[in-house]
Amino acid sequence: MLRSIKGLKDILPQQTPQWRYMETIAHTLATQSGFSEIRIPIFEFTELYARSIGGSTDIVEKEMYTFPDRDGSSLTLRPEGTAGVVRAVLEHHLLDSPSTRKLYYLGPMFRHERPQAGRYRQFHQFGVEALGTEDPLMDVEVITLLWRFFCSLGLKDLTLQINSIGNLQDREKYIQELKRFLFPKLEVICGNCQRRYSTNPLRILDCKVPICQQATQEAPTLFDHLSLDSSSHFQSVLDGLTGIGIPFSLNYRLVRGLDYYSRTTFEITSPHLGAQSTIGAGGRYDGLVELLQGPSTPAIGFAVGLERVALLLPEQISFPQPPLFFLAGFGKEARPIAFKLLHELRELGIRADTDYKSTNLKSLLRSADKLGATYSIIMGDDEARSKTAIIRNMTTKTQELITLEEIAQKVQSLN
Ligand code: ATP
Ligand code: MG
Repeated sequence: MLRSIKGLKDILPQQTPQWRYMETIAHTLATQSGFSEIRIPIFEFTELYARSIGGSTDIVEKEMYTFPDRDGSSLTLRPEGTAGVVRAVLEHHLLDSPSTRKLYYLGPMFRHERPQAGRYRQFHQFGVEALGTEDPLMDVEVITLLWRFFCSLGLKDLTLQINSIGNLQDREKYIQELKRFLFPKLEVICGNCQRRYSTNPLRILDCKVPICQQATQEAPTLFDHLSLDSSSHFQSVLDGLTGIGIPFSLNYRLVRGLDYYSRTTFEITSPHLGAQSTIGAGGRYDGLVELLQGPSTPAIGFAVGLERVALLLPEQISFPQPPLFFLAGFGKEARPIAFKLLHELRELGIRADTDYKSTNLKSLLRSADKLGATYSIIMGDDEARSKTAIIRNMTTKTQELITLEEIAQKVQSLN
């Protein structure tokens, strides 16, 4: 039997209502806050990701799906959304307007990671980007939108962790100190981190290997190395969050896995997900637009991992809505009339269904029950000839004979 690729997941009919629910709330909340939707391609030139995410990050080093195009150019399936959005914004001059450009997206991302619960090779993100302001209130706005998204979905026990990783200059000074601290521990940290020591030492703080986490426990924090500018910016973000009542917890170790971040960084975690507990994360990326050859443009965004959110949603949304009416037409003359009625009900916007596999009344009513229909409209050849139908309440089992002329009115009254 042919199977899907490892780490990829079908979203089956009983799960799609959850997805529609998440997507609807994402569209509604983002639009409400003045973000416009952007849809960008699923693959781009590899160079875009290599330049923006950073050559020595996990994503670029080992997680990208990269392949040569027929003309030899190197293409990559998008591992995240920000780089592509910034590329599109620059290509289409969307930064020319005087106000902040606020965009959001929904769609699949691709990373060649080890598949496990909450970690897939194709996964979906809802993300927003606000480009053109460094005002800390924009940080508060973006974080609040993320928080509200989860609250609207009814998620509980969430923690917002927040940190500031300063600007490039702050980090350069800090990295020297971090390396001095880590030097005597080089023997004990994992092979990956030994390599990171020279390529990207900040990443060591983000390593999930326990021995590395332990080794960095007492490490100096970037937070203590922030410039006055960065720390007062951060304080304003925290004041803003406090002002509107979003609870947060400071996590001085939070560094995030992509190179383009600066200043405010944050993650929202749930205690109900095991190891893959981060459901949404983001931060400022004040240098990225310039790095991609655009004008100097401070920006901030977040991305939500929708598969992980889906794991937290209550099960009841995971069932499709049952039909209000089940058309139980049987017999040669009745079936086409019942079929036409089914079509008419749907035209009226009423949830209606039938089952072509059942050909007698008993099995039809069993199907109606299985689908959870509220009413059945029963029509055999006798009813067809007398232009009538029987409406059966599937709960009380009471029945009523009505004429086909009355049916539209009757159905509307029950809707
Ligand atoms: P993690 O620490 O879980 O690897 P990350 O820092 O790589 O996450 P981001 O690039 O910030 O993640 O992506 C934002 C969100 O997308 C994550 O918080 C997570 O919810 C989700 N996500 C990331 N990678 C995957 C994956 N392989 N499968 C499912 N969801 C993912
Ligand atoms: Mg990751």
